[in-house]
Amino acid sequence: MKATLDHIGIAVKDLDQALAFYRDALGLEVEAPEDVESQRVRAHFIPVGESALELLEATAPDSAIARYIDKRGPGVHHITLRVEDIHAAVEHLKARGVRLVDQEPRPGAEGALVAFIHPSAAHGVLVELKEPARPRPNLAARRMAWGDLELVSVSDGLFRLDGGAMFGVVPRPLWETRLPVDDRNRVLLSMRPLVVEAEWGRMIVDCGAGDKMDAKQLDMYGFDRTRHLDHALADAGLSAESIDVALATHLHFDHFGGATRRDGAALTPRFPRARYAIRAAEWEDATHPHERNRASYLQDDFVPLKEAGVVAFYEGDQSIEPGVRVVRTGGHTGQHQIVFVESGGRTAVFTADLIPTTAHVQNAWIMGYDLFPMDTLAFKKRFIREAIDREYLIFFEHDPFVAAGYIRERDGRRHVEQVL
Ligand SMILES: [Zn+2]
Repeated sequence: MKATLDHIGIAVKDLDQALAFYRDALGLEVEAPEDVESQRVRAHFIPVGESALELLEATAPDSAIARYIDKRGPGVHHITLRVEDIHAAVEHLKARGVRLVDQEPRPGAEGALVAFIHPSAAHGVLVELKEPARPRPNLAARRMAWGDLELVSVSDGLFRLDGGAMFGVVPRPLWETRLPVDDRNRVLLSMRPLVVEAEWGRMIVDCGAGDKMDAKQLDMYGFDRTRHLDHALADAGLSAESIDVALATHLHFDHFGGATRRDGAALTPRFPRARYAIRAAEWEDATHPHERNRASYLQDDFVPLKEAGVVAFYEGDQSIEPGVRVVRTGGHTGQHQIVFVESGGRTAVFTADLIPTTAHVQNAWIMGYDLFPMDTLAFKKRFIREAIDREYLIFFEHDPFVAAGYIRERDGRRHVEQVL
């Protein structure tokens, strides 16, 4: 059994006096308290490195903590060990005849599962086992007003890419806690197009991978499209037929594969009424791939669009429709671009593969896939500074948990305040 110290629970009789020591004298930071109604206790967590102290304050005279203090006085009440599989851990202990308080794991705070081991088995210490809640991918379609526009974040499902390639020079111990890793070293990623609704019509920015993958590709990239773009559009009251413009950040399969679909033997545009806005120089690169990018540019994703006469090529940074502006970043591909959506004095930015997940908000966290990583770095440094200072709402196309948020900086460290 692999266990990590999660926290040490300390029963306190007088919270103010306890804070005078832990917060004021030791100088530790105390988080906002959490009430656990069922136990009639208020918990004050104090992070200490990878673990925490938990000050336990009774909120009723008959609570277990109050009775514990009456009997034994304030002090260490329990220790909590974090385990990966609590059911396996409980079975393991039972098989060894360890006396347990809980014969089966039960729900604890914040979706965790917990089980207590009897103090008599642990030499006088109450030991809690805890399996934290696994974060669930957040793939629901979400709509928000943005000035005169409406933004709808949608999803084309999940896939997996090699974790090392997703994080370039960043060592695995740093990234493996940020995204779930499977036994093939792949991290879980989403594909999240963005729909912009305006007076002029409805635009989709990128459109996921679509359904043209063969068995080998499905397996290699671990696609899970049980909930795909059609579901997400329907959830938002939209459909493929309701899209007027499809805009590509670049033509990689995980961004614009969904632009075409199989129709018997033929490949047809996925959005039947749409014009497909594609940067001319990206088209050139995509249709003339080399050894390094051939696996990402799948001709069936975009060549049928030109044959159908629905591509609107453009050159250079510009407004595609009022309020929607493309800006070339380079880096990931030579012509990779991000999309600014501006209305009512507010700016949202769809950052595509410049900042694919919330883990990539640190400057040096750059994908190994990028063809020109130093160009990514130069653009990213400038852009993220601007995004923090001007409070741009950032859309993260590949983050399985966070669709959009604000990048904040505190003491030189960045984090994302989730909005969607
Ligand atoms: Zn991508």
